[in-house]
Amino acid sequence: MEPLEIFHCLRCNREIEPGDKSVAVYLFAQTVGIRPRQKSASQRICFCPQCSVSLAMGPPPEGALNLAAWKMIRDLVGGDPALNQAAWETLRGIAGLLSAGEHDNRARATGTDGYFEF
Ligand SMILES: [Zn+2]
Repeated sequence: MEPLEIFHCLRCNREIEPGDKSVAVYLFAQTVGIRPRQKSASQRICFCPQCSVSLAMGPPPEGALNLAAWKMIRDLVGGDPALNQAAWETLRGIAGLLSAGEHDNRARATGTDGYFEF
């Protein structure tokens, strides 16, 4: 049994608890054709639904490794509307909190930009 770990979204640093909707990117490196074979520890990188959608809708990032991760996230976001749905659910929750006093947040949240910069 692994201990329960709290992860943070790599982009916005929001806490992602086990079981929360999120996208996890696993990374590890290993040697090929060299004996003995070596394998690095694996790393888990998490993105909350909004950042996943935002990244996927945004322009391709710099760097081959970033680009590879971006393509994988795009596949997930484009493959099923569930992730977009999760992002919208969270956003609605935030918009609800923010608009306790004002009412123009909802209009801004549904702007035509297509993605959100935090
Ligand atoms: Zn995030």
